[in-house]
Amino acid sequence: MGYYFTTEFEGEVAKLLDKSIYHKCKECGFTFSKTLFEMDYEAWSKLNLDTHTYWELMSKNNLDYSVKQLMLFLATITQYY
Ligand SMILES: [Zn+2]
Repeated sequence: MGYYFTTEFEGEVAKLLDKSIYHKCKECGFTFSKTLFEMDYEAWSKLNLDTHTYWELMSKNNLDYSVKQLMLFLATITQYY
């Protein structure tokens, strides 16, 4: 596994998570958010809840692209818990 890229969030989302650092497996290409993977369960649960709450407050049309990205990240990491 090695560093791949970093996504930095802006606006409202940045209050929940400022950035997500990605790592990628050089062998098979598997990519994951090291930031979310290493977050402790309590912090991850809070982030998950806050993000879903934020999602529900906004209509889908108004939803910031970065929020959609964050939702995808959270969905990706869910399988590890
Ligand atoms: Zn691999």
